[in-house]
Amino acid sequence: MIIVMTPGASEQDIQQVIKRLEARGYGHHVSRGVERTLIGAIGTPEGEKEAAAEQLLRLPAVERVIPILKPYKFVSREHQRAPLPVKIGDFPFGGTKIGVIAGPCSVESREQTVDAARAVKAAGAVVLRGGAYKPRTSVYAFQGLGERGLDYLESARGETGLPIVTEVTDIRQVEALAARVDALQIGARNMHNFDLLKEVGSVRKPIVLKRGWAATVGEWLRAAEYIAASGNLNIILCERGIRTYETETRFTLDLSGLAVAKMETHLPVIADPSHATGTHKLVPQMALAAIAAGADGVMVEVHPHPDQALCDGPQSLTPKRFMALMQDVRKVAEAVGREL
Ligand code: PEP
Ligand code: MN
Repeated sequence: MIIVMTPGASEQDIQQVIKRLEARGYGHHVSRGVERTLIGAIGTPEGEKEAAAEQLLRLPAVERVIPILKPYKFVSREHQRAPLPVKIGDFPFGGTKIGVIAGPCSVESREQTVDAARAVKAAGAVVLRGGAYKPRTSVYAFQGLGERGLDYLESARGETGLPIVTEVTDIRQVEALAARVDALQIGARNMHNFDLLKEVGSVRKPIVLKRGWAATVGEWLRAAEYIAASGNLNIILCERGIRTYETETRFTLDLSGLAVAKMETHLPVIADPSHATGTHKLVPQMALAAIAAGADGVMVEVHPHPDQALCDGPQSLTPKRFMALMQDVRKVAEAVGREL
């Protein structure tokens, strides 16, 4: 890290910083400019940086402390330059192919899940999504079918061969879910649930990590780092809209944030235009825009009968609309040098 001294810092102030660094066993390099002095701290161990920076900031003539390395390591391009594809089932997300994950918001019945799976598979989706444990804003809203939902997802996988992804909401579910599904999803509401992140870091299944709607890209990447640092680098980031002042849409799909994430990390990044917009009318446009912006795939809610959905019907595509979208996805993918 670099310690930036205030313009009027005296030699005594500078020596005080150096003493602190020496006391902690770090080396230092002093650069005296016309206006300011900069002190480089050398050899600060990873785990101590934040605390050391906070303590140095309390010294009288220290203006700023600038970290040199990113606060995330395993997921950063500093650690691994080239994109590292992450497979769900046999499909590598983050390669040349655009990966589409689709299915209902919630698993509601065997028939609904199998019908949705057949429809999305026929249109070219490579992973089936469906929530069995639903983290609903209202405790009175449909909470998901739990275990029974997993049975239906497994039936749908059996019928179609599509790998399945479902959300995990509690550390107590992790082991059992990981044994039954092909990928685990951490929802936007749980992006800051660090115990849950550590727990999914200890399983071998790929993790789809949604961005919290009030999380910066840096916080999202640090959440991914929790999973990676616990031993699981199979992470797919999913931008699903952030909260802004705009009320025309449910959230605001942050395409520049997605592009920043792509630059910062080697992990695949996908977009969820369904939760971002909240309306099926805007899902196609945002799905295509995300792919044009460099997304490695999209996650789209598709329901055989959106008007009967128990959750997120207004943003769910009918199978017919999804089929039409996939044709456009193919065109945009090709236009940006990818394939479907
Ligand atoms: C979901 O994908 O079903 C979901 C609840 O999304 P999010 O966590 O992004 O709100
Ligand atoms: Mn949903």
